[in-house]
Amino acid sequence: MLIQKNMKEKNLDMTNKEIFLCAICNIESGTCNEDCKFCTQSVRYKADIERYKRKEIENIVNEAKRAKANHANGFCLVTAGKGLTDKRLAFVCEAARAVKKENLGLIVIACNGTASVEQLEILKEAGVDAYNHNLETSRDFYPEIVTTHTWDERYQTCLNVNKVGLRLVCGGIFGLGETQEQRLSMLESIASLNPRNVPINFFHPNKALPIVKNSVTRKEAFELIKLARKKVPAAEKIMIAGGRELMFGDEEYKVFDHGANAIVIGDYLTTAGKETAEEIEALKTHGFKILNECDAK
Ligand code: SF4
Repeated sequence: MLIQKNMKEKNLDMTNKEIFLCAICNIESGTCNEDCKFCTQSVRYKADIERYKRKEIENIVNEAKRAKANHANGFCLVTAGKGLTDKRLAFVCEAARAVKKENLGLIVIACNGTASVEQLEILKEAGVDAYNHNLETSRDFYPEIVTTHTWDERYQTCLNVNKVGLRLVCGGIFGLGETQEQRLSMLESIASLNPRNVPINFFHPNKALPIVKNSVTRKEAFELIKLARKKVPAAEKIMIAGGRELMFGDEEYKVFDHGANAIVIGDYLTTAGKETAEEIEALKTHGFKILNECDAK
C-alpha cells in the first residue's frame, strides 16, 4: 500500500500536469424538434435514449454536490431544444439558483441553445457564470448537417454571451464528414469569439442517426486537439468532451499531451461515461493535478 502511495506521489512529481474537470447535468433530455444529424436528442431520429421534460431540482442539486465531491470545476445545466423559451429560462434560473445557494464553489454553466441578450442577462442574474454554445462545425458545412436553423444564429448567440459578460464556452464536433479546411474554418470562427473554454467533441455514432460513422481516425483526432490549441491560443481550456472514450480508448489521457487541459467526467448527455470514482483514481495514478478555479480564488 505504502509502495503504491509512493509510486503515485512519484508519478505526481513526474507529470504534475494541471487539469480541470467538468460535469454535465442533463436537466431536460431528448425533446428537441431540430434535425441536427449528429444528435440523439432530436425526436426525429427516435434514438433509444431517456427522454424527460424537467429533472427535479433536488436531483440537480444532488448531482452538483456529487460533481464537487469528484473535483469538478464546472457544472453544466443542459437542456434539449433549439433555444430558451420563457418556461425553459425560468427552469434553468431555478436550477442555477438552487445550485449556487449550496456554495459549492462550482462554475455554473448554462447550455440551452439560442439565447438573446435579454435572456442571457436573466441567466446571469440567477447566478449563471458561463454559457456554452458550440458552433458545431464550419459555416459552409452546417447546412449539410442541420436544416432547421442556421450557423449564423449560433454565432450570434455567442456574440450575445460576450456582450453580457458571461464566460463563453464554445467548441464543436469533429467526425461528421467535414473536410480538413472546414475543421480549420470552424476553429478560426471559434477563435474570433475569444472563448474561455473550447469543448471538443468527437462524433459518437448511434444506429438511429443519419450520420453512420465517425470520419476521424485516432491519429487525426490527436492532431485536431493540437490544432485547436494552436488556433485558439487565448482559451484557458481546451476540453475534450463527448466521444473521448470511444475515440481514444486506452490512450484517452494522451489528450493532455496534445494540448487539452480539461475533460468532462461522468455521463455525457445521452451516452454513459466512465464510472467517476474510477476516473478520478486513474487520473491521480497518472499523476494529474486536478484544479478548481473557485477554490484557487
Ligand atoms: S444539437 Fe441541440 S438543437 Fe440540435 S438536435 Fe440536439 S438538442 Fe436539438
